[in-house]
Amino acid sequence: MNLLDKLDAAASARKALLPTGLKAFGIPIEEVYSATEARIGNNRVLLLGTNNYLGLSFAPECLQAAHEAIDKEGTGTTGSRMANGSYFGHRALEQEFADFYNCRESIVFTTGYQANLGTISGLVGSGDVVLIDGDSHASIYDGCTLSGADIIRFRHNDVADLEKRLRRLGERSRSTLIIAEGIYSMLGDQAPLADIVRIKNTYNSILLLDEAHSLGVLGSTGQGLVEKTGLLNEVDFITGTFSKSLCSIGGYCVSNHPQLNQLRYVSHPYIFTASPSPATIASTRVALQLLRNGSNLRDQLWRNAHQLYSIMSEIGFKLGPEPGPIISAVLDNPQQALAIWNGLLEHNIYVNLILPPAAPENKSLVRCSINAAHTTEQIAYVGEIFSELHATILQ
Ligand code: PMP
Repeated sequence: MNLLDKLDAAASARKALLPTGLKAFGIPIEEVYSATEARIGNNRVLLLGTNNYLGLSFAPECLQAAHEAIDKEGTGTTGSRMANGSYFGHRALEQEFADFYNCRESIVFTTGYQANLGTISGLVGSGDVVLIDGDSHASIYDGCTLSGADIIRFRHNDVADLEKRLRRLGERSRSTLIIAEGIYSMLGDQAPLADIVRIKNTYNSILLLDEAHSLGVLGSTGQGLVEKTGLLNEVDFITGTFSKSLCSIGGYCVSNHPQLNQLRYVSHPYIFTASPSPATIASTRVALQLLRNGSNLRDQLWRNAHQLYSIMSEIGFKLGPEPGPIISAVLDNPQQALAIWNGLLEHNIYVNLILPPAAPENKSLVRCSINAAHTTEQIAYVGEIFSELHATILQ
């Protein structure tokens, strides 16, 4: 099979899963009206498939900051952080992240994906070990591959398995980076952070926590799982993204280890890519401020998440283990997931469809993301449609 044949075979396998004409992946959104509504095809749809957790995508303060930054600093930096792409705003945002986490060091990357690539490949290398949760995001896997370190996986959220593997490493546990996530993106479950911290301290390893889905969502000021569990000072490195609660694009790493700063000189995903545009940085700075201004948005997000989670569990859907902004219905097979996803879209509700092999254990998921801007009525409507589809498709 040549290289192009391989791609054709992959395309045929994907098409075989989907009825003709159905575009379930990369569906074009023709117009966006607000944090909760858009147009797909000719229909106005309710958005339940974005990571816009605090609903800030049209916050007037963020829009204004972005407009002003474009006017003052232009559309792009045209260069990397290392060369000409570190403007005042990039450095100010780093300081603001350091203040927010009360940490010494902070680095801003161009995407959340690159924050993981850059941090992991800067911290570990050939001869070191990365010990990662089996359900880790692709950016974590890719960062580990890029690093050249030995990659060992522990069973998802299984601290006994983590400890067993660390014990087997003997002295090498001292050059091991353990990686977990605050909230896992497929089922919305949280890492058992207190146990992970206890184990990493016993074996003198280093811990990185990706708070991509938990920034702005968990903790009394929105720092993430580190704050909810009171373990901020026990986690060595925290990475995260601007593309979810902060509603732009970019990523960060914060740490109390002064060595984090050294990554700027060794980390290719930091050095060899253009820095975020001035508008991106400006809106992110304001969004971080809004995130820190009290807990109203976070409280609303949680009320909405509890509302949908309890409706769906009453209907009888199999869900992830705990309520949160990611609420996934776990279906028995791809056909069921597809039928539900399609049924929702026919009722003008857009959610994410996850088919094997993308989800853990080859599960098929209909994944909803709730945000603070959804209204009680919108969520009740989604619940009604889920209920109809459960009755017609699953019984
Ligand atoms: N980490 C996790 C856990 C993620 O889910 C994602 C994105 N879905 C990323 C990192 C990468 O973030 P970004 O899309 O902002 O590059």
